[in-house]
Amino acid sequence: MEGDKPTTIVCTVLAIDHTSLCYRVCSVCERTLPDNDLTSLCKFCNFNTFNPASSSPSKRLFRVLMSIASDTKVLRVICFDRAAKVLFGCSADDFFDFAKLHPFAAVSANRILEGEMFRMTLSKPKNGNAQHLRVVSVVPLRSGFQPAIESLRELYGKRVGC
Ligand SMILES: [Zn+2]
Repeated sequence: MEGDKPTTIVCTVLAIDHTSLCYRVCSVCERTLPDNDLTSLCKFCNFNTFNPASSSPSKRLFRVLMSIASDTKVLRVICFDRAAKVLFGCSADDFFDFAKLHPFAAVSANRILEGEMFRMTLSKPKNGNAQHLRVVSVVPLRSGFQPAIESLRELYGKRVGC
């Protein structure tokens, strides 16, 4: 990486961290909520369940840590919601619901995405504490690429949901 300019590379996915694919945020202001307390309400916007903006106080967003290999090096990168949707083909909530029915969905998603080639644009994290390059955009390079959720539905023989 030179300077703070985003870099675009061609890379292969080596592995995704399937143990933690998403996190919870306030459905109104999208600030992070604690994962361990599902009843907590947002402290920032004082969201409560009577807020007409949403029927749910929280939603999930993708935050996927993964290892990728370019022609010269292996990198650990973090992929947030917008870019991760290209890989998964659905929202984090939809994936979470699918994974509730199919407990091995996340493991399978890792296997499905492993070895896929992408053109990724990476940028240095704006937050100085963040340790991983973040994926700004993802473009699949294989012509027959389909998002993980499509392959998963075929795998589990379902055409419902999402
Ligand atoms: Zn909020």
